Amino acid sequence: MSASPPRVLITGISGQDGSLLAELLVADGVEVHGTVRAPADRELVNLAAVREQLALHACDLAVPGRLRTLVGEVGPTEIYHFASPTFVPESWREPAQTIREIAGSGAELLQAVRDLAPEARVVLANSREIFGPDAPSPQDETTPCRPGSPYGVAKLAVHQLIGLARVRDHLHASSAILYNHESPRRPETFISRKVTRTAAAISLGLADELVLGDLDAVRDWSAARDIVRAMRAMASASEAGDFVLASGVGRTVRELVDVAFAVVDIDPAEHVRVDQRYVRPAERFDPVGNPHHAREQLGWAAEVRFEELIAEMVQADLADLATRR
Ligand code: GDP
Repeated sequence: MSASPPRVLITGISGQDGSLLAELLVADGVEVHGTVRAPADRELVNLAAVREQLALHACDLAVPGRLRTLVGEVGPTEIYHFASPTFVPESWREPAQTIREIAGSGAELLQAVRDLAPEARVVLANSREIFGPDAPSPQDETTPCRPGSPYGVAKLAVHQLIGLARVRDHLHASSAILYNHESPRRPETFISRKVTRTAAAISLGLADELVLGDLDAVRDWSAARDIVRAMRAMASASEAGDFVLASGVGRTVRELVDVAFAVVDIDPAEHVRVDQRYVRPAERFDPVGNPHHAREQLGWAAEVRFEELIAEMVQADLADLATRR
């Protein structure tokens, strides 16, 4: 490990994972640099608690060369690459842009590290989408990858480049294969936050209905806090590698709804309506990850139970909505 004091670069620092990681690092007194989309001086809600302690840099993934320049300027000892488009269906509308922004930026970052900061430890946020729709459940690091979307193809390219960078360039580069991970900072386009926000709104008399798609759809939900801790452990591990970071438990959307509504003591049957608009094609296999390897190699275990996570999200939404009334 490098003898110089740690200097961390987080791409996508204003997102859910970037901001949670930044808070952990700042609390430990680490020098933290982060990239945000221009302009860097706009309001960045997730960074409110630590903004003064961070060095922020504007960076657009679509601009080739920007990441390389930054790696050269910052001289990081540790890099977390989180910046990425996240909405999978969007990748069908803009496949070329998806490939450029995800695969192009991942490749550029690895090349920059090889050339300018070869001692740096690198963790790239990847996705269960690399496995695709035909992967039996649960998936692990040995599951064959046959992605079913341009997003998954782009993420798989990065995943495989990371493996090559370890072997060919001897980089300490790791791929975090992420499943759903949530916090009060999750945007409402994701089901968890849509449910907690609406449960809170209904309990405050601000809404009456929660309109959803398939209630039997299954997801593997973790707390983003736990996932961010695991990614830190990946950077500090003696050996880099691929790690599935997941709870290992599949739960239905219906269970999510029941747990959220129980927090505000309301019967969901009186408020939940299914609308075909939100129903996606049924999945043959549940996207559930097996975190065994992360447990064994990193000594990582989730600390936040599902019920605690959802309660925390509902409470945060209650508090936020109360201030807006
Ligand atoms: P994903 O895991 O990246 O697909 O995103 P989400 O966290 O939003 O989870 C989506 C899952 O919830 C899919 O299985 C959807 O079929 C299911 N779902 C059911 N109703 C809704 C809804 O109203 N909004 C969203 N986003 N997903 C829904």
